[in-house]
Amino acid sequence: MKQQEIMLNTLHNKEIRMNDLDELEVDELGNDHVSSATETPMRESAFILSDEQKIKKIEGYFREIMETLGLNLNDDSLSGTPHRVAKMYVKEIFNGLNPVNKPSVKLFDNKYQYNQMLVEKDITFYSNCEHHFVPFFGKAHVAYISSGKVIGLSKLNRIVNYYAKRPQVQERLTMQIAKELKNALNTEDIAVVIEASHLCVSSRGIKDDSSSTITSFYGGKFNEEQIKTEFLNYLILKK
Ligand SMILES: [Zn+2]
Repeated sequence: MKQQEIMLNTLHNKEIRMNDLDELEVDELGNDHVSSATETPMRESAFILSDEQKIKKIEGYFREIMETLGLNLNDDSLSGTPHRVAKMYVKEIFNGLNPVNKPSVKLFDNKYQYNQMLVEKDITFYSNCEHHFVPFFGKAHVAYISSGKVIGLSKLNRIVNYYAKRPQVQERLTMQIAKELKNALNTEDIAVVIEASHLCVSSRGIKDDSSSTITSFYGGKFNEEQIKTEFLNYLILKK
């Protein structure tokens, strides 16, 4: 796993290098936004309940949270909120937890023998920090060098957004996208760079609204300096 390298530029460009996310020692979770597992930690019984049953349950719990905070749920403006939030969680912003929503990937023969790198940049994504359940969002840039097959371009966006629609940490999101692209494209030659703003950093806690967090993964040939530089140069090209 030496080729798996994550470089993290976080607050004020403090740089952390990790050779393997799985081996990362975690001193502190929470405000440091570091997590050690590549797989999203799921319960075995995660899909016993249907979406409709989950919405109903979450609606009840969310009503309780609001009431506990002192809100009057009889108010017209608030009465529909528990159901809206529950539906949004299950059907929209966390629907990437359910594997049935995973985009099916169709590969095509690389007929034109395009054997250079393909870069799909500025893929907009919205995710939610799993430590605070508030959004983080930004751009993902992914690249691969074909091993004989090519993928429909919109699939790259769909893969990014599938994994974004989970309670996430940015490091894991990066790894999950890279892993999926490796499997789907049957190549180690994958690069993923994500730049994101975290509302849990800007709107609360340390209240730093100018920092952004960059995570990256370089697999296979992308560890070669020339290839990596070519990729990074594409990212700074004017649109
Ligand atoms: Zn957070």
